[in-house]
Amino acid sequence: TKAIHWFRRDLRLSDNPALTRAAKSGQVVPVYIHDDASPLGGASAAWLHRSLKALDDSLDGNLVLLRGNPLTILPTLVHEVGATTVTWTRRYDPSGITMDTSLKQALKAEGVSVHSENGALLWEPMDVNKEDGTPYKVFTPFYRRGCQAAPPPRSPLAPPELELCKDPQGVSLSDLDLRDDRGWDTAMLADWTPGEIGARERLEDFLDGGLQGYKEGRNHPDKANVSRLSPHLHFGEISPNTVWHLARTLPSSIDQDHFLSELGWREFSHSILFHNPQIARQNLNPKFDAFPWREDAVGLRKWQQGQTGIPIIDAGMRELWQTGYMHNRVRMIVASFLVKNLMVHWRHGLRWFDDTLVDADPANNPASWQWVAGSGADAAPFFRIFNPVTQSEKFDGKGAYIRRFVPELAALKDKDIHAPWRAPDVLLQAAGVTLGETYPHPIADLKDSRERALAAFKTL
Ligand code: FAD
Repeated sequence: TKAIHWFRRDLRLSDNPALTRAAKSGQVVPVYIHDDASPLGGASAAWLHRSLKALDDSLDGNLVLLRGNPLTILPTLVHEVGATTVTWTRRYDPSGITMDTSLKQALKAEGVSVHSENGALLWEPMDVNKEDGTPYKVFTPFYRRGCQAAPPPRSPLAPPELELCKDPQGVSLSDLDLRDDRGWDTAMLADWTPGEIGARERLEDFLDGGLQGYKEGRNHPDKANVSRLSPHLHFGEISPNTVWHLARTLPSSIDQDHFLSELGWREFSHSILFHNPQIARQNLNPKFDAFPWREDAVGLRKWQQGQTGIPIIDAGMRELWQTGYMHNRVRMIVASFLVKNLMVHWRHGLRWFDDTLVDADPANNPASWQWVAGSGADAAPFFRIFNPVTQSEKFDGKGAYIRRFVPELAALKDKDIHAPWRAPDVLLQAAGVTLGETYPHPIADLKDSRERALAAFKTL
């Protein structure tokens, strides 16, 4: 008998319960379907191209690539190869769930047995509810009472022995048109290794070196204390169970607890998405529907290009453009600046991140934007507005991160690099900085724009 395993965001062989299920059913046809109706951002598409290549290599070149609507493609393929079983890893975004439900019904009506498994989360959202059966809205009880009191995540599974079916012909990887014609992604991905092997190495490196000191070090963008596992987790090149269990093989510590709780935030975002289909479009807190957002196309463009004249923000936005990643502390600072100081709607920021992050995620991205904006579940209060200069002095005190991504300021002294507009002219000159020429003047006065945002918030 033959089983089709439909790969989606579970691009790995190990700890993949649905693939293991397929392997038990007989010969496996491994398939990836590129659905043009769900377009990807540029950075994600470039990552996916490399990740599919890695997966195909690990399947000895037998990954079947197809392009189109899975609702028609999958039933056709089932007939073509004579499959009796179809497996996939469950997803939690409401439109994905709708598609999966229709497909399951259609295939079952044809006598095909369909198995979906959890391979993406530690605890599925439908299993983590308050005692009254409603979902948690606040992270700490969600994690402490909902997740940690539930049965622990299952142990990771070894990669299954696969007998691969070599019959069906798909399209070639380049036919999926995932790569950018300009080759911009080559530089962006230079320091990344998409795919299961790269993900595992990343995790091992982090556990060897970065985890110790994580709780404090994770706030400093120039330190190697974060795992950078987010794109690997997003594409399912490594399972959260593997990350969880490997991290737990080390002696327990405050750093380990804190790292596991960040995986808990990932679970929380998925739970929010599962219960709030409109999270990328609508404020979770409807009070914000009346917020007087500003249209500021010029400000938005300068923010996107890393030309705001505020060094920590420009460093973050340029890190994003150059590497497809931005450190979490800096994500919070740039998002707060866009939404609060510029009063530009969080949806514009979300859209830019969706296009440029290699880890752009339908759960984490909108949940985090709404968290920063104050409109989300368990969100930061709107009136708490990050001061980017104070944040920069505190978390990039020596300006190492700024110097890396804003080299035109590199010769400034540590104390001047966070707010060059406050530096004496002679020191700017000595460092070769001319504001308005070699580096922009700030596009917003931090004090005035803060007051404007607070006044706008009071109108709600
Ligand atoms: P680590 O600190 O090593 O954490 C380990 C893992 O835990 C991460 O890989 C991630 O899967 C999860 N995690 C960590 N922090 C968070 C968090 N705050 N919320 C949810 N999960 C978390 N993360 C994404 O994966 N995709 C996004 O599209 C995304 N957009 C964001 C947008 C904004 C405005 C903000 C403020 C945060 C966003 N995050 C997003 C959350 C967080 O910034 C990243 O997950 C983290 O920076 C990834 O780096 P890391 O893997 O080194 O994290």
